[in-house]
Amino acid sequence: MAYDRSNVFARILSGELPCERVYEDQHALAFRDINPLAPVHVLVIPKGEYASMDDFSRDAPPAVIAGFFRAVGETARRLEVAESGYRFLANTGPDGNQEVMHFHVHIFAGAPLGRMLKKIEAS
Ligand code: AMP
Repeated sequence: MAYDRSNVFARILSGELPCERVYEDQHALAFRDINPLAPVHVLVIPKGEYASMDDFSRDAPPAVIAGFFRAVGETARRLEVAESGYRFLANTGPDGNQEVMHFHVHIFAGAPLGRMLKKIEAS
């Protein structure tokens, strides 16, 4: 998928828009979601131009993929939720309800999160 450089996370990465940063390294930036759905709700984004998990998993070099997922774990540790536990997910594409087309992982934590999803029937 073509990467749109005007997406909101690209504008956060460039410094054009503010964010509440919780962790940053050479591979990733982590910041609080503007509309939190849990007591802790943080987004982790790679610094490269990948529109989705599909693009990232196909096109990113192995060291970039490894560095990104290490940053997700490091973010959870910095948030002090690694022991109490957390959930991470990446909405992908139309059925995944992805709204911002820069690959990102949500980290949810800070309370028991319940089961994964309400059961969804095929449409
Ligand atoms: P999705 O693409 O569906 O995985 O979700 C995009 C997420 O980005 C939503 O949870 C939004 O609340 C969040 N979001 C959108 N704009 C901002 C922003 N400027 N700062 C922080 N989070 C944002």
